[in-house]
Amino acid sequence: MTQTGRCLCGEVTYEIEGDVMAVAVCHCDHCQRQSGGAFSTNLVIQPDQFRVSGDLSVYEDRGRTGDAVYVLRKFCGTCGSPIVSELTGPGILAVKAGTLDDRSGVQPVVQVWHEERQPWVVMPEMATVEQE
Ligand SMILES: [Zn+2]
Ligand SMILES: [Zn+2]
Repeated sequence: MTQTGRCLCGEVTYEIEGDVMAVAVCHCDHCQRQSGGAFSTNLVIQPDQFRVSGDLSVYEDRGRTGDAVYVLRKFCGTCGSPIVSELTGPGILAVKAGTLDDRSGVQPVVQVWHEERQPWVVMPEMATVEQE
C-alpha cells in the first residue's frame, strides 16, 4: 500500500511505500515547539520506504545536552510544515501523520516522552515507552 502526503502549500509532496512499523505519539518538548501543538503523531518507517519531491529545509536538533545531532527535523521552507524527522541513531524516519492526504487509518499504538505530556492531554490505551 502506498500513502501520499504533502505540506500545507503543496511544494513538498511524498509517498510512503508499504506498511509502517508503528504509529507513535511523541509528547517531548521539542515536538511541542516544532509543531505548535501538544504532541506530534508520527509514522515510523525505514528510509527506503520514503520518497519525497520538493525541497526540504533541515533543522539539526541537538537535544537537551547540546552535543550530537540526534534528530534531523525536515520541513517545508516555504510554509513551514514539519514533514519528517530522521532519527540519526536508529536510522529510522518519523513522518508527521498530520501531513498525510488520508489520515483515516492513523491509529497510534505507542507514546514516548510521556513525562512531558501536557496535563490536559488524555490518550487512549496504548504502550508507553519510558525515557531513561
Ligand atoms: Zn510547503
Ligand atoms: Zn518528540
